[in-house]
Amino acid sequence: MKAEIFSIGHELLMGELTDTNSSWIAARLPALGIQVQWVSIIGDDQRMLTEAFARGMQRSDLIITTGGLGPTQDDLTREAVAGALGETPVVQDEVVRDLERYFQGRGQVMPSHNVKQALLIPSASFITNRNGTAPGWWTERDGTIVINMPGPPGEMHAIWEEEVEPKLLELVDDEVTITRNIKTMGMSEGAIDEIVSEFFGKENPYLGIYSKADGIHLRIIARSADAASASALIKPVEEAIHERLGEYVWGYDEETPEQAIGPVLKERGLTLATMESCTGGYLANSITEAPDSADYFKGGVVAYTDAMKTVYGVPSETIEKHGGVSQATATAMAKAVLEGLDADYAIGISGVLGPSEIEEKPVGLAYVAIVGAEAVQELELRVPPRRVVIKRRIANQALIELRKMVVAESPG
Ligand code: AMP
Ligand code: MG
Repeated sequence: MKAEIFSIGHELLMGELTDTNSSWIAARLPALGIQVQWVSIIGDDQRMLTEAFARGMQRSDLIITTGGLGPTQDDLTREAVAGALGETPVVQDEVVRDLERYFQGRGQVMPSHNVKQALLIPSASFITNRNGTAPGWWTERDGTIVINMPGPPGEMHAIWEEEVEPKLLELVDDEVTITRNIKTMGMSEGAIDEIVSEFFGKENPYLGIYSKADGIHLRIIARSADAASASALIKPVEEAIHERLGEYVWGYDEETPEQAIGPVLKERGLTLATMESCTGGYLANSITEAPDSADYFKGGVVAYTDAMKTVYGVPSETIEKHGGVSQATATAMAKAVLEGLDADYAIGISGVLGPSEIEEKPVGLAYVAIVGAEAVQELELRVPPRRVVIKRRIANQALIELRKMVVAESPG
C-alpha cells in the first residue's frame, strides 16, 4: 500500500511550528506494510489543499493528514476533501449534539463556528476524538482512503492508536509484519552502510539505518503471510549483521542503554557507582530509569565543580596537574567512588558542555573513565555541541561501553 502524508497549517509553512506529526506517523507505517512515498506541508489554502488531495488520490492508495480540522475559517481540510471528491458536506445533527454536550461538560456554550466540525460527506465517516472537539474523517472512494486527523499531537496520537491503527491493521491483516531493531555503537553510519550494503534498497525484508543518540540502529522489517515466514525473512539479514558487526551490537528492539546494562550487572551480582560532572546527573538519572536499578546501582555523585570532586575523593593534585576536564580527572573520579562505595565498577565523566570552552578545551569534548577491579577503560568523546545532546550521548555511550567491558571481563 502506497501512502502519503500531509501536514496542514499555515504556521508550518511559516516555520513557526515544526512538523512533528508527519514523522510520528511515518515511523508507524512500515510495520503495517505501508510505504510512505511523499510527505507534504500545505498551508490553509482551499485551492492548494483541494489540488493536493486530487493529486494524492490519483497517485496513492492512502492519504493521511493532520491539521485544519478546527472550528475556525482557516481550517479547510474537510472542505478540500469534499472539493476534491465533488461531494457536498452536510451537518450531522447527532454530532452537533455531541459537540454541545462537550462544551456543556466544560460549563460553556458551543460557539456557532463549531458546527463546522459536524460536517460530513457521503463517502466519509467520523473518527472519534476523545480528547478534543474535532472528530477526524475516514473517507473511502475509488480505491483511495483518506484519513484526516486533528493537528494537536496529543489528540492525534490517541486517535491513531485507538481508532486509525486498528482499522489499518484490519486492511492489511492478510499479512504479518515483524520488525527487528539492532542497536550498535562504535562504528560510523557510513562504515555500517558499506558493510551490509547488499541488504539495502530491498522492499522485503526492508533494512533501514538510523543514527540515534545511542548509536546507529539497523531496523529489519519483513512482511509475510504468517509470523514464521516473516521471521525466516529476517533471520539471514540479522545473522549477517551479527557476523559482521557483532562486537558493536549492544541491544535490540526497544531496549535502552540503561535497560541493557541492568541485567548484565545483576546476573553477575556486580555493582556500579558514578561520579559525573558535565552530565549533571543525567547518567545517574538514566541508570535509575531501570526499575530494578537498586539491585546494582550504589549511587552517583554530581561533582559539577573541582571543589566537589575534591570533597568526594579526587586528589586535588590530579585536578591541578591535568585540569578539571581531563582523562586523568575522569579516571580519578571513577576510582574515588569505586573505592568509596566499594563498588565493582564505576564511571567517571568530565567534559565541556558549553557555551564556552573550559581550560581551552572545546565544547562537546568529554572524558569518560570506566573502572573495574581489573582494568580501566578511558574514552575521549567528541559530541555535537548542544547541551542536551551532549548529556544524552555521553551517558548512553558510557553505559554501552560499560556493558561491553563487563561482558568481556566476565562472559555470561
Ligand atoms: P489545527 O488542527 O490545524 O488547528 O492544529 C492545531 C494545533 O496542532 C497547532 O496549533 C499545533 O500546535 C498543532 N499541530 C498542527 N499540525 C502539527 C504538526 N504537523 N506537527 C506538530 N504539531 C502540529
Ligand atoms: Mg491549523
